[in-house]
Amino acid sequence: MLQLAPYAANAANSRGRTYQEPAPPYRSEYQRDRDRIIHCAAFRRLEYKTQVFVNHEGDLFRTRLTHSLEVAQIARSIARTLNLNEDLAEAIALAHDLGHTPFGHAGQDALNHCMRAYGGFEHNLQSLRVVDSLEERYAEFTGLNLTYETREGILKHCSVKNAKALGDLGNRFIVKTQPSLEAQIANLADEVAYNNHDIDDGLRAEFITVEQLREIRLFEEQYRLVTEKYPELGSRRVIHEVVRRMINRQITDLIEASRARIQAEAPATIETVRSLQQPLIGFSEGMRKQSLELKRFLRQHLYRHYRVVRMTAKAKRVLSALFEAFMDEPGLLPPEPARNEAALEKEQGKAGRARVVTDYIAGMTDRYAIAEYERIFNPSQLT
Ligand code: MG
Repeated sequence: MLQLAPYAANAANSRGRTYQEPAPPYRSEYQRDRDRIIHCAAFRRLEYKTQVFVNHEGDLFRTRLTHSLEVAQIARSIARTLNLNEDLAEAIALAHDLGHTPFGHAGQDALNHCMRAYGGFEHNLQSLRVVDSLEERYAEFTGLNLTYETREGILKHCSVKNAKALGDLGNRFIVKTQPSLEAQIANLADEVAYNNHDIDDGLRAEFITVEQLREIRLFEEQYRLVTEKYPELGSRRVIHEVVRRMINRQITDLIEASRARIQAEAPATIETVRSLQQPLIGFSEGMRKQSLELKRFLRQHLYRHYRVVRMTAKAKRVLSALFEAFMDEPGLLPPEPARNEAALEKEQGKAGRARVVTDYIAGMTDRYAIAEYERIFNPSQLT
């Protein structure tokens, strides 16, 4: 492994794990975190959770799992080039979407609405809840007992109200400071990954067209280069070549702009990084604008496409109906969530019931949520 920069995260300056454990004999602490994430149930469920397209719409679309792998690949490349901790960036990237509900953002909005009287629902906070308490894999502790740095990176945003309940980990959302550079990288790698793969998926679904995309500078620049250099190339390969080059342009810009910012700030340690008001990892001003332009395009033409909106509306109805049904009649819950429900309701009353119902629903895959809806509401379905 390359020599880590002095301001990188490393096991020697880790804030450690909640439950102390002996150091791993042949892996670094962050490699152990990554391995625990890969082996957990929530990670496997990402395979059947939607990014933009619902799982049954086709086998070639991204799922949360393939998205997370793409984010990890991008984050690792950037971290390695900047002499930062590649293992930590990878662990954060693989875990960043663990708390996502079925049906992507539609699911998150629906659950947040259902939970409005009980503290709301934030998918980022839910990712932390998955690794801190919902996974049941170890004899000695609940959750995965990850290092502070991985947990810090998973919690990308958080409302001030919820941050207050998180102690040390939530403090930066109150005083408005930054997480490690590795966390900052995972955050932007997420953005680079989804902006580009949504173009690819959107074109495949024919929800957007190349002609529309040519209004976007980032796309048009690469599109012109590719079609001039390879005038005979088939359209699918043109798209892949353009998207590949776009990702490359953004990563190169990100590395160069971040390197310049790090050099100018010259942070002595990770604690200096954490004390700053502004992130050091980021695009140049020009690329930031181009990336925004692309995001706006996708919001307008892809995420608001009537067929996406139809699916979104359906997803909201399914999750809201499940929530109401379980709240009205907790006896409908299968044995495991039912046990948790009884325990948490005793402690916190109706808010406890709502939290367990939400944990259960948030953990579902798209297809499981649809099947559960059928089992509960369709009179001719076997339960
Ligand atoms: Mg993501």
